[in-house]
Amino acid sequence: MISSRETLSPEAQLAEWVEMNKKITSQGKLATYIPALARANPHDLGAAVVGINGLELTSGQWHVPFTLQSISKILSLLVLLMEQSFKYILSKVDMEPTGDPFNSIARLETVKPGRPFNPFINAGAITVCSLIKGKNVDERLNKILDLIYRCTGRWPDLNHEVLLSEWETADRNRSLAYFLKDMGFLGNDLEQTLELYFKQCSIEINSLELAWIGAVLANSGRHPVKNTQIVPGEAARIVKSLMFTCGMYDASGKFAVSAGIPSKSGVSGGILSVYSSNKASLFKEGCGIGIYGPALDEYGNSIAGIQLLKMISKAWEMHAF
Ligand code: GLU
Repeated sequence: MISSRETLSPEAQLAEWVEMNKKITSQGKLATYIPALARANPHDLGAAVVGINGLELTSGQWHVPFTLQSISKILSLLVLLMEQSFKYILSKVDMEPTGDPFNSIARLETVKPGRPFNPFINAGAITVCSLIKGKNVDERLNKILDLIYRCTGRWPDLNHEVLLSEWETADRNRSLAYFLKDMGFLGNDLEQTLELYFKQCSIEINSLELAWIGAVLANSGRHPVKNTQIVPGEAARIVKSLMFTCGMYDASGKFAVSAGIPSKSGVSGGILSVYSSNKASLFKEGCGIGIYGPALDEYGNSIAGIQLLKMISKAWEMHAF
């Protein structure tokens, strides 16, 4: 039973839902294809919500650090959107959903001209990484780290164990990069591009920091408290639209129907959700939500995180429609 919001404070509601959904973590599985990810506690579940007014709600293992993995694809795309025109980016990466696994190579060959379908599948994200300007990998990576810093107030670290693991198990990502290079979609040097991609996946964050990034996106790219414009409103809008259509792997359509909140998940069990409101919700002006629950469902999304977001969306009236 979901308690009514008249009887419990929002913080207590969140705590209750986290507790309820912890039970289903045992039905999920840790990602093991990157060995270092298998070290997570599968029963962890954490959540944080940050409102546009700066209100923070946290619950469960919100403080446990995890690697951004695919959620980092949002940040590199934001960096690129600040450097290149949308038209140019679209000529290199399409913005269409696929029903294919995130690391699929199939459509690069079967659908001409071999342009990746969207920036959130690996082929698209690798292309995005290849187009970010900079003298070397560190200069490019720093743009992503700086963006996180400006949203969260903390300069993030990389998890070097995950990075190494990522590097050692990268055959599929290498294949994608070589194919993209052959088709003329890769901007920079292949090795540097892959290094940037692996490094962005290995950035460590927690649920509260993730929620702050979400709050910036919910607030059209402006920091809710510092009131500085961190990314242009148009870039935030593009990214949120893609999160809604392509953010949750092959369950993106189902998640859009059930929870209806633009979200992006990663194989470490993180989910970044962005609610931009004009309705009578608890978070009237919008909020960012950060979730961590490393036990994954068959689509590679946090099994308990998905259920938790459905509860939050329903009780706090956050569904887009
Ligand atoms: N590092 C992962 C990979 O490219 C990211 C996967 C993900 O979170 O979807 O395999």
